[in-house]
Order: sequence, then C-alpha cells, then structure tokens
Amino acid sequence: NDGDTPLLAIDGISVRFGGIVALDGVSFTVQPGQICALIGPNGAGKSTLFNCLSRIYPCGSGGIAFNGEALAKLPRYRMAGIGIGRTFQNLALFRSMTVRDNVLMGCHSRHHAGFFRAMFRLPGAERIESESARRTDELITFLDLEPVADRVVADLPFGTQKRVELGRALAAEPKLLLLDEPACGLNHEELHSLGELICAIRDRFGITVLLVEHHMSLVMGIADKVVVLNFGRKIAEGTPGEVRSHPEVIQAYLGG
Ligand code: ADP
Ligand code: MG
Repeated sequence: NDGDTPLLAIDGISVRFGGIVALDGVSFTVQPGQICALIGPNGAGKSTLFNCLSRIYPCGSGGIAFNGEALAKLPRYRMAGIGIGRTFQNLALFRSMTVRDNVLMGCHSRHHAGFFRAMFRLPGAERIESESARRTDELITFLDLEPVADRVVADLPFGTQKRVELGRALAAEPKLLLLDEPACGLNHEELHSLGELICAIRDRFGITVLLVEHHMSLVMGIADKVVVLNFGRKIAEGTPGEVRSHPEVIQAYLGG
C-alpha cells in the first residue's frame, strides 16, 4: 500500500431483496489506519453492507476493492487470510471452550495451513504453534482477559464474551476489522472502555476499523470518518462534526 490507495474502496454497490432495495449505489472509501463508522436508522442497509464485505451477499453491479484487489475474485474461505476480520452482533464463539482456546482458534483461522501442519505434525508446526501461543498470550493481556483465560466462555458475562470475540478476530491479524454493533448489550462503564479499546486496536496494531454502531457518543468520540446511510442510500459522509450538522442526517434521525 503506497499510502494513497484506500484500504477499502466500495464502488456503487446495490443489493435487492425482492422488491426491497437494501443498498442503492453506495460508494465510499476507507483509508489505512482510519476508524470509520457506518451509521443510519434501522433498515438503512448497514448489516447488508457488512455482509457484502464478508462476501455473504454478492454486491450487485458495483464492486469492492480491498488493498486495490477486487474482492469478488476471491473465494470466501480466503477472507480471513487476506486480512478482513469481523465480529458479529450475536457472538460467534465456541461457548464450551476456554477463552484461551477461542483466541487460539482465531490464530489458526489465519494460518490455515498451520492448523493442518500441527494436526499431522509436519515440519514447521512447532514454530507456528509457538507463534500462535505467543500471540494468544499477547492478546489476552491486551484485552484484560488474564483472570478468565482458562474459564469456559459460556460462564462469563456478556461484556467479557464480547472481548473474547474481539480477541478471536484480532488473532487472525486482520488489516481491516469489521465490528457489528460492538456496544450492543454493554453497560455504561463497558461502553467507555470499548471506545478506548477500539482506538488502541488501531494505534497498537495499526488495524483499520469499520464499525456499525448506534451509540452516537461512542461514534462521535472515536471515528475519523462517518458514513450515513438511509433507505439504502449514502446521505452524508464526513468528520463527526460535519455529519452531525448535516440537514439530511438530522432529518433522518428525527424523522422530520
Ligand atoms: P440495518 O442493518 O441498517 O438495520 P439491514 O441491512 O439489515 O439494515 O436491512 C436493510 C433492508 O433490507 C431492510 O429493509 C431489511 O428488511 C432488508 N433485508 C435485509 N436482509 C434481508 C434478507 N436476508 N431478506 C430480505 N430482506 C432483507
Ligand atoms: Mg443491522
């Protein structure tokens, strides 16, 4: 990446479900190192856009380029390998496994080949295993999960489980991290530390973040750039300050 190429370039993507236009020619870019927030009322198309980025839905006539490369050309199973990671609104964890093993699984999703090397004890397995273990420890410390590292995920509070899910996603060493409503279900205190955590993910690991979020105070506090969707269309884009005072945004939110 030469610094000018956006990490993510979304170019005129449209998605229909029968008669419903979920996304209507949406375009925007995310630069490396940015924290970009995607906001908009319910039904605006935010989750649909995330699902296009994860290749769960095809993106109509438009295109998505990641680091200058067209996503549509890649098979879905390679998504973690190319550097796009995500969390889900409804946690995607192995509930009967420990915190540590969940994070370790994230390492393996990146080193796909490493997993099989380890399983069949092929050459190189030991190096990959020790690297995965080192990275798992680092992330457990980073996410304040040491006290619960050997506990089973299902027994932990929701907010802690969400940090484990972040650990699983970070373990795969993404260049771009997609967070789907990370603040959903968190209490006030957890909400505050989530903002700091997202900034730390960018600052410490250099990871670019695209998040869908309803909590305006969180979004306005951490986002470099905000993209606003309404009824599948992009209605505004800019800094938090620019977006907040945009007439169409005010109208969309106040239902005027
Ligand atoms: P948001 O995440 O912003 O709340 P969504 O992307 O979930 O919005 O939905 C956008 C529109 O597309 C809504 O009208 C929703 O009902 C519709 N929609 C989303 N997913 C599907 C689906 N799988 N089948 C049919 N309609 C869908
Ligand atoms: Mg949604």
